[in-house]
Amino acid sequence: MEPRIGVFVCHCGTNIAGKVNVEEVANFASTLPYVTVAKEYKFMCSDPGQSLILEDIKQHKLNRVVVAACSPTMHEPTFRGVCQEGGLNQYLFQMANIREHCSWVTEDEESATKKAKSIVAGAVYKATYLEPLEVKKVKINPNTLVVGGGITGIQAALEIADSGHKVYLVEKEPSIGGHMAQFDKTFPTLDCAACILTPKMVQVGQHKNIKLFTYSEVLEVSGYVGNFKVKILKKARYVDPDKCNGCGECALKCPIKVPSEFDEELGMRRAIYKPFAQGVPNLFTIDKEHCTKILKDKCGLCEKICPREAIDYEQKDEIIEVSVGAIILSTGFQIFDARQMPQYGYGRLDNVFTSLEFERLCSANGPTGGKIVLKDGTEPKSVGILHCIGSRDDRFHPYCSRVCCMYALKYSHLIKEKTGAEVYQFYVDMRCFGKGYEEFYNRLLEEGVHFVRGKAAEVTDFAVYKGEEGKLIVRCEDTAIGAIRRIPVDMVILANALEARDDAKDIARIFSINTGADGFFIEKHPKLAPVSTTTDGVFIAGCCQGCKDIPDAVAQGAASASEALSLIDRGVVEIEPYTSVIDADLCSGCKTCIELCPYSAIEFDEEKNVSVVNDALCKGCGTCVAACPSGAATARHFTDKQIFSEIEGVLA
Ligand code: SF4
Ligand code: SF4
Ligand code: SF4
Ligand code: SF4
Repeated sequence: MEPRIGVFVCHCGTNIAGKVNVEEVANFASTLPYVTVAKEYKFMCSDPGQSLILEDIKQHKLNRVVVAACSPTMHEPTFRGVCQEGGLNQYLFQMANIREHCSWVTEDEESATKKAKSIVAGAVYKATYLEPLEVKKVKINPNTLVVGGGITGIQAALEIADSGHKVYLVEKEPSIGGHMAQFDKTFPTLDCAACILTPKMVQVGQHKNIKLFTYSEVLEVSGYVGNFKVKILKKARYVDPDKCNGCGECALKCPIKVPSEFDEELGMRRAIYKPFAQGVPNLFTIDKEHCTKILKDKCGLCEKICPREAIDYEQKDEIIEVSVGAIILSTGFQIFDARQMPQYGYGRLDNVFTSLEFERLCSANGPTGGKIVLKDGTEPKSVGILHCIGSRDDRFHPYCSRVCCMYALKYSHLIKEKTGAEVYQFYVDMRCFGKGYEEFYNRLLEEGVHFVRGKAAEVTDFAVYKGEEGKLIVRCEDTAIGAIRRIPVDMVILANALEARDDAKDIARIFSINTGADGFFIEKHPKLAPVSTTTDGVFIAGCCQGCKDIPDAVAQGAASASEALSLIDRGVVEIEPYTSVIDADLCSGCKTCIELCPYSAIEFDEEKNVSVVNDALCKGCGTCVAACPSGAATARHFTDKQIFSEIEGVLA
């Protein structure tokens, strides 16, 4: 049947019409081959705009539709829906992007209009060769994988498990809890962090719908939305989880002491350990890097001591495979290494602490039992808290970490409450944007904290003036009074930036998602799809997506769970038919495509000696099409004929 194409050019208010002469483009479109009708309208995506297209499909018996408007990411589904309503196969629709690709990025009206005409002509020429395609429906596996057992992952896992669906929660540390388990109090309410976190951890540990894999990592993910296959590395703990009851007798006798990661190396742990008392699961783990039995076959004390015969030095790493329909990544953050800014003396001057170190000092289950003390065990009489260490700094992270001002206020309160010391906050701006945050700041003003407006330039132990002996001297420009100040203090706390984890890129690769310039995972849309990614079925939540405080991290955990649940509850997923197809008559069986396919979507039919594409796995990337030396592979909806015709249209 001869093509009958309708072209509909959108003004998008002034977004397009402000630069492109829309009427001229529509008139031009009406002169193109097979164009039956060409119209322009203010907002094509509005109800009247859609009705206009629908009526024209019927009235002019259109069998192809081109809409020249915004990016297909925004409204392609809208207009495909209109085509379907008009009785057309939805793949007989072609979008021409004259907003992002044209009006928003072209200087003058004349060039913009000329460019818009070319884009529209390309779309019309391609539309001529469009073919009807059918979406593929695949059943969704109702299980979900959550990676990262901090507060975000815990929230996500509980929401899904409570709704009756199975969750695999993978955490690389021996216990869930994440950074929040290290905190003492939370701002601005000053709730005890452990008191609100540990009940949730216990729920996770006991939930019948949650299968917990701690001390484990995801190695590999294959498959597609609704049907992922995941390989999990369960590292050997050398302790039988079915026998160990967490009594801790082994750790009491273990002779090997190493700095505790959980205590930010301010305290020690043994080679057999549980990171912290409330850790879930209630299991001990042997650290093979330090256990002398495993390293040199010497010791073996814990095996002799353990009353439950739980020690197993022969235990091996295991690889476990699970199948899930949705994946939530909540892999969290790390803090900026303050050694990169040597001017603040971290690692060189004894009483310069990072934020997480101070959390452990403050915490009742920390190395000092919650006493805020200097390295010599005495209480500080004065403390300086330095904001924006690594944040809002073009040399490191240009972004604001969003939590430092508030935890710095929390520290001020705790220091005053526990020690009565003078506290100086060296700040650039106070950013107290959340619920109850500004009120907390006002409270601290009343508590007599000194706020010095200016980023600290350096911290030294070099006394120049009387009263500076034995102190750390914070030097800064106080921009409120326009003077250089030297403030001697006993303790300095650095408000380090939150940053993407060092392994964020590796994780992104495993799950086929992307990281941004700041290193965090990129969401599908910052406003409209903040927990989705460009890989269907893979969601992100919490600080792996960007800096955020606990309420926002929990909200994202719940949001990602809701996205995963809405996917699971659909039962089936529709897969775009943009897949590759191999013509068996042309395939020479060279297997070039099999080697190159990044999604392992091509199998080899030994009997027929040809390659065959698995539609469910193929993502339509086109690699095989470009590589096939016999021209046997074709990408549906992007056939050579369609692409060459589009180019011809653009150049016409
Ligand atoms: Fe107790 Fe044995 Fe477990 Fe150690 S390994 S905590 S001694 S049960
Ligand atoms: Fe500690 Fe290893 Fe000795 Fe056990 S065998 S007590 S973990 S050093
Ligand atoms: Fe067949 Fe082409 Fe694949 Fe070679 S590259 S196996 S010819 S489809
Ligand atoms: Fe693999 Fe080809 Fe599909 Fe790309 S288009 S995913 S290379 S089969």
